[in-house]
Amino acid sequence: MAASVSLKLMIDEKTNRVVAAEAEKDFVDILFSFLTFPMGTIIRLTSHEQLKIPVTIGCMNNLYRSIQNSLLNWHTELCKTMVLNPRNPCAIYCSKLKINIDDSGSEMNYACSRQGCRYLSKYQNVSCVCSKGVTTKEMKSDDSGSSVESCRYGGAFLQKGSIMFLITEDLQIRPASPHILAQLLSGFGLSETSGIREMPVEVSKEQVL
Ligand SMILES: [Zn+2]
Repeated sequence: MAASVSLKLMIDEKTNRVVAAEAEKDFVDILFSFLTFPMGTIIRLTSHEQLKIPVTIGCMNNLYRSIQNSLLNWHTELCKTMVLNPRNPCAIYCSKLKINIDDSGSEMNYACSRQGCRYLSKYQNVSCVCSKGVTTKEMKSDDSGSSVESCRYGGAFLQKGSIMFLITEDLQIRPASPHILAQLLSGFGLSETSGIREMPVEVSKEQVL
């Protein structure tokens, strides 16, 4: 079964508009993971192939497409791969997310085919820096022993716990409390006891994207 996370939406009954959501850390971690994505990943994930309605971030989509569509003189083929499909430096943390939309394979390392060579590459089937082998052997970052901060507590970015978070429609996030909720709702002329309908929803990878 595909992974999903639960949210409780708070909907203004009059306008039928979502004003906020309440969620556990799993969902907030997913939102925070967006900030770790390299620009190349963001452009790829928000492109037409991935979304029905593509998102444009300035002229970055054109920059990305220029690389895809043009015959440019790359130093090596790997240089092109690196800019179109960059690696996330926080991949080991993102691999702990309940839903990770970054499908770049950033959490993988590739070991050299030459016996005794200890170099690792973030990319597969490229010449090793030892110049005598090719990076063929797949290893998860955890296997390499190099990820000293590999979230031993099992979470992604936030500590595990029962705390709930309030997320506004424009992605401001705060720990949930009756006082903060009342403040938030009063900004819309609402209160917890009037004008608000609560709706539980399950969010899947497609919806996070
Ligand atoms: Zn090597």
